[in-house]
Amino acid sequence: MKVYYEQEIDQQWIQSKKVAVIGYGSQGFAHSNNLRDSGVDVCVGLRKDSASVKKAREAGLKVMTGGEAAQWADAIMVLVPDHLQAEVYRKDIAPSLGSGKTLMFAHGFNIHFGQIEPPADVDVSMVAPKGPGHTVRRQYELGYGVPCLIAIGNDASGRARETALGYAAAIGGAKAGVIETTFKEETETDLFGEQAVLCGGVTHLMQAGFETLVEAGYAPEMAYFECIHELKLIVDLIYEGGMSLMRYSVSDTAEYGDYVSGPRIITPAVKQEMKKLLAAIQDGSFARNWIGENKSGRKNFLAMRKEHAAHQMEEVGEKLRSMMPWIAKNRLVDRDKN
Ligand code: NAD
Ligand code: MG
Repeated sequence: MKVYYEQEIDQQWIQSKKVAVIGYGSQGFAHSNNLRDSGVDVCVGLRKDSASVKKAREAGLKVMTGGEAAQWADAIMVLVPDHLQAEVYRKDIAPSLGSGKTLMFAHGFNIHFGQIEPPADVDVSMVAPKGPGHTVRRQYELGYGVPCLIAIGNDASGRARETALGYAAAIGGAKAGVIETTFKEETETDLFGEQAVLCGGVTHLMQAGFETLVEAGYAPEMAYFECIHELKLIVDLIYEGGMSLMRYSVSDTAEYGDYVSGPRIITPAVKQEMKKLLAAIQDGSFARNWIGENKSGRKNFLAMRKEHAAHQMEEVGEKLRSMMPWIAKNRLVDRDKN
């Protein structure tokens, strides 16, 4: 597999373009600020009444409406939430697309599942940082980067790859490495990773551990520290040196428990279920359900969000964090700014 690094990427292909970033959420905030700091002519496309207009202006960025930004730009990066992209594309972007323009995404969902079908004379590519937007910005500010995937959906100009690589470098990704993939592979692996492990798997594992201790009569604060807070410390070690370094750092007792009890939690049945999740992603049924949920007003989604936010562990966590003010001082997310 080819990994690109900064020294082999010619940034003129992005430096010579006007870039519109549509949306100023987690990724939009990071991409637009990083591009600007890398010397790219960038503007943010937002609805006139969006609360983000003020945040983007205060960060020193040019702001236009989505339609104006798409008209103005050579390259248009779509960073509104996935479920709104098809509508924003039809209303604001499609009217100004034509030969010479590049349409870009940070996740392949809408192209892969056929929700957006750009014209044949437009370059279509993806630059997908493998990390949350707030981390993409923080790492860039520190002089580091978050690894990026790129993919080429359509190469009308013959320069789609150079543009995508230049963009990935300008947001800091090439410091860590840029890997080329396809829209299909990125979409399927990204959805699987977030469902099985990163978001779905991990949160429910932590919750089950927390509940088991609390139901057995232990203090919720103890349960929170053990099953939730400490996970960051473990993941930091894995991030630095893999499972072996983590196992080197924890006690031999913890390491023994890891080997004998881990497989009792993550049983073969769990992996069987993971395979089913993957199949539902590959055959498009997960996408159909999610698109349907959005079209019918997101009732189930919003109910689940509310229910999970009200779980006892969230209240306990907030109380414990307030005793550790350094967490807030180093925060990645400041809702007034990003
Ligand atoms: P987000 O929900 O954080 O932000 C979306 C932004 O779009 C908000 O500022 C919202 O106000 C704005 N918006 C909504 N409707 C709009 C409209 N009509 N016109 C202009 N702006 C509008 O979104 P996000 O999580 O940054 O996701 C953006 C894309 O990046 C998605 O494709 C997502 O899959 C991808 N991605 C996200 C992450 C992440 O860290 N969140 C990581 C990798 C890839
Ligand atoms: Mg992801």
